[in-house]
Amino acid sequence: METTLVRNRPAMLDRVEQDMLIDGKRVPALFAKRFETRNPATGELLAQVAQAGAEDVDRAVAAARAAFEGPWRRMKPAERQRIMLRLADLVEEHYEELALLDTLDLGAPLSRTVLGKARAGGLLRYYAGQATLLSGDTLPNSAAGDVLSHTLKEPIGVVAAINPWNGPIGMSVWKAGPVLASGCTLVMKPAEQTPLSALRFGELCLEAGVPAGVINILTGLGDAGAALSSHPGIDKIAFTGSTGVGEKILHAAASTMKRVSVELGGKSPNIVFADADLDKAVPAAAMAVFANSGQICSAGTRLFVQREIHDEFMARLADFTRTIRVGDPLDPATQIGPVVSATQMDKILGFMQGAGQEGAQALVGGARMAGAGLEDGFFIEPTIFTGVTDEMTIAREEIFGPVLSAFAFDTEEEVLKRANATPFGLGSGVWTRNLSTAHRMARGIQAGSVWINCYQMLDPGVPFGGYKLSGFGRESGPHHIEEYLETKAVWINLD
Ligand code: NAP
Ligand code: MG
Repeated sequence: METTLVRNRPAMLDRVEQDMLIDGKRVPALFAKRFETRNPATGELLAQVAQAGAEDVDRAVAAARAAFEGPWRRMKPAERQRIMLRLADLVEEHYEELALLDTLDLGAPLSRTVLGKARAGGLLRYYAGQATLLSGDTLPNSAAGDVLSHTLKEPIGVVAAINPWNGPIGMSVWKAGPVLASGCTLVMKPAEQTPLSALRFGELCLEAGVPAGVINILTGLGDAGAALSSHPGIDKIAFTGSTGVGEKILHAAASTMKRVSVELGGKSPNIVFADADLDKAVPAAAMAVFANSGQICSAGTRLFVQREIHDEFMARLADFTRTIRVGDPLDPATQIGPVVSATQMDKILGFMQGAGQEGAQALVGGARMAGAGLEDGFFIEPTIFTGVTDEMTIAREEIFGPVLSAFAFDTEEEVLKRANATPFGLGSGVWTRNLSTAHRMARGIQAGSVWINCYQMLDPGVPFGGYKLSGFGRESGPHHIEEYLETKAVWINLD
């Protein structure tokens, strides 16, 4: 593992101390505090990262405010667009480095992280396109006299993005896109486990010509996120993370009436009908939950298989799962790496132990991985539980690990009811060749995304977000940018 790592090591990691990025400069925390980020595959220390205190939050917000009030606000849309297109090119040019930083920091295999390149470039170009399309309307009114009314679209102001650790560079790009396109400014707090690629992204923004202070990267812990959530200088919060923290943010944001969007957790159903194309459904059902070691908010963690094909399907799924290559994230053949931290690993192992106690059986996996080179990492076997009932803890709670709960079902009505019997509503999958079934399920499932004969598809042009406890607001798609704009009505009395 060591030799590959040394050969590929990004230049940024030559310094062990990594500072945050405020007002265009890499700066330490005012009180010089730092936290560690480590490689979850090896335990190796990657960096001592500046840990923002309340005073650093203040200066990042002040920098973002000054940039918002400054030339950025008056910059022509076409110029913002040019900068964003340059940024898209730079992010693609440097994508291997960004992917490698994420692989080291998060443990996601390089085979996965490098694939984010097209999406990152695509997102930035999609939002860049929107920069020159923002427009109000001239609207008819029936007021007395001769009165003209029209609307103006204005950027909301200073945005705080608070990010999770499960897809660091993709998340940074996704949050920055609508900010830059709308003319807002940003204070972005990456998760403490994975701060590195956000810092490099911030540097690339400067290189692309984004003015100092428009994008600030505030590294820190949960208290920095909390300080942003109640800060009077923040106009909008774009949060992605757990439902519990999302709730705290809503409370903290209430007294200053911040605009808030929250993309939260999930417990997504993946439903396989007896007429499905099993050659496609088997590997897809496995990767729907095991990709990124199960650390995906919309992972298909509840698998419902129609009874006629249940046993055959489960046997094939188990066989496929045993072929998944878990190991060194830097090995290009590796499909699944470790989970992000010891805390996360212990939480997942706890869920697996509880499942056994509640009466579920591990068909495949069920333990921490042993093996040469894996002992210092947080590797967990891809695990399938059968004999799970809808009431068991593993069937209800988000595990955020490589753990699948499988169920048999008989009818469409029954499975729809069971699929919706969760407080979450983020993703969902349906596998069938019957068009009517597909459409009925698409209408009936309470979730922000329904994937039919596919899973986990995302595109910059298509909205993504949650129903119920999975949050509100939609990222991507033509309307996302509206969440970064105020609408002002202008009345002009012509009499
Ligand atoms: P998390 O614990 O909620 O943390 C998310 C972010 O919030 C981190 O930056 C965290 O800081 C910060 N934070 C912690 N306490 C805070 C507080 N009181 N106020 C403001 N911010 C606070 O989530 P995670 O463990 O990183 O990520 C996993 C969760 O994210 C899962 O539930 C997953 O489903 C969800 N997720 C959802 C989506 C989606 O699009 N719906 C996408 C990805 C992940 P520190 O970590 O630095 O302490
Ligand atoms: Mg890390």
